[in-house]
Amino acid sequence: MGFQKLFEVLADLDIKTIIGVLIWGNLALAFLTLQFYLYHGSDHKKDLILRFGVAKITQAAAWVLLFLRGNISDLFSICFGNILLFVSFYLDSLIILKMNKEIKTAWFRLQDVLLALSVILFALLELLLGMANIRVAMASLGVFFVLVVPNILSIANKQSSKFERFIGFVSVFFLILLLLRAIYSLFDKNVNLFTGNLLQSGTFLLLVLLMFVNGTGFLLVMYERSYELLKASSNLDPLTKIYNRRYFMGKAEAYYERALRDEKSLSLLFIDIDFFKKANDTYGHLFGDEVLKVVAKVISENVRPLDLCCRYGGEEFLILLHDASREQAVSAGNRIREKIEDLTFEENPEYKCTVSVGIYSGIPDNEKSAQFYIDYADQALYMAKESGRNCVVSI
Ligand code: GH3
Ligand code: MG
Ligand code: MG
Repeated sequence: MGFQKLFEVLADLDIKTIIGVLIWGNLALAFLTLQFYLYHGSDHKKDLILRFGVAKITQAAAWVLLFLRGNISDLFSICFGNILLFVSFYLDSLIILKMNKEIKTAWFRLQDVLLALSVILFALLELLLGMANIRVAMASLGVFFVLVVPNILSIANKQSSKFERFIGFVSVFFLILLLLRAIYSLFDKNVNLFTGNLLQSGTFLLLVLLMFVNGTGFLLVMYERSYELLKASSNLDPLTKIYNRRYFMGKAEAYYERALRDEKSLSLLFIDIDFFKKANDTYGHLFGDEVLKVVAKVISENVRPLDLCCRYGGEEFLILLHDASREQAVSAGNRIREKIEDLTFEENPEYKCTVSVGIYSGIPDNEKSAQFYIDYADQALYMAKESGRNCVVSI
C-alpha cells in the first residue's frame, strides 16, 4: 500500500466520528482530573488541577455543540460552539502559563487580548459573511493564536522538564497544521466543518493525540512536581529548614569516600548550644525554637556552598568541611561561635546565646568512617563543655 492509498484512507475519515471521540475523551479526562483533585494528598497546585478539569469540560461542551450542527439552531452550534472552543483553549493556555515558574503577568494579559480578538473577529466575520470556509479558517486561526505563545514559552523556558517540552513540541506541530488548515480553507469555498480532506482529518487526528498527550502529560507533571516537593522537604528539618540528620548521614558517607580517594583532610564540627535547657525554662519553649532557627541560619550562612551542615538533634548541629585542615576548621568554628555570641534577640535582649564546638580533623583512611569523625568531635565537644563552654576544642 503506497502513501497515496494511506492519504486516501486518512482523507476519508469521518470528521463527525472524530468529534465524538473528542467529546468522550475530554469528559474522561475531566473525570480523571476530578479523581486526582479529590484524592491528591497535598494542597499543592490544587487550584491548577481544578482549572484543568473545568477546561476539559468546557471543551467537551464545545464539541457537543459543534457535533450537533444542523440539529440545533446555528446560533448555538456555530457561534456558541466555536466561542466555547476558544474559551477552553484559552483556559488551557492559562494553565500552561501558570505551570511555568516565574512567568510575568503581562503574558496573561496578552492571552486575554488574544481571546477577545478571536471572539470578536469570529463573530464579526460570521455576521458579515456567514461563509463556511471563512468560519473554518477563523476558528483555526483563533485556536492558533490562543495557544501559540504559551507553548513557545514553555519550550523556551529553561525550567521546563523534558516532558513539558515534549508536550510543547506536539502542540506546536498541531498548531502549524492548524495554520495550514486555516490558509487552505480561505481559498476553498467548498470547505466546511465536516468536509473530509487530508488537512481536515490530519488536524482532527492530531487534536485527539494532543488531547491525550496534554491530558495525561498534565497529570503526570503535577504528580512529578508534588513528588519532588515531598522528596526535597523530607531532607529538611521542619523547624530550622536546614538538612536533617538522615540526609546528612547519607551525604557524609559520600563526602568521606571522596576525601579518602583524593587523600584530602576532612573536618567535622559538633556544635551544641550552652545551657539551652535553662533558656527554655526561663524564656519559654517558643523562644527556644526561635533561638534554634537563628543559630541554624548563622551556621548555614557561614559555611562554603559545598560544605554540609545539619541539625543533628535537639540543640546540636554538625558541619562537615571538605578539604579543610585542623587550623581552618578551628578558625571556622571560632568565626561561627563569635557570630552567635554577638546575636541579640529582640524579645529577650538580656539573653546571651553561646555555643561550644568540638572538632575532629584528619585525612580519612580505611579504618575510619564518617561516624568515627562524629564520635570524636563529640568527645572534643565534651572537653569544650568541661573547660567552661563558649569555646572551640579540637582533637
Ligand atoms: P549544655 O550547656 O551542657 O549543653 O546544657 P544544655 O542545657 O544545653 O544541655 P541539655 O542537653 O541538658 O539540654 C538540651 C535542651 O534542649 C533540652 C531540651 O529542652 C532542649 N531542646 C531540644 N530540642 C528542642 C526544640 O526543638 N525546641 C526547644 N525550644 N528546645 C529544645
Ligand atoms: Mg545537647
Ligand atoms: Mg546544650
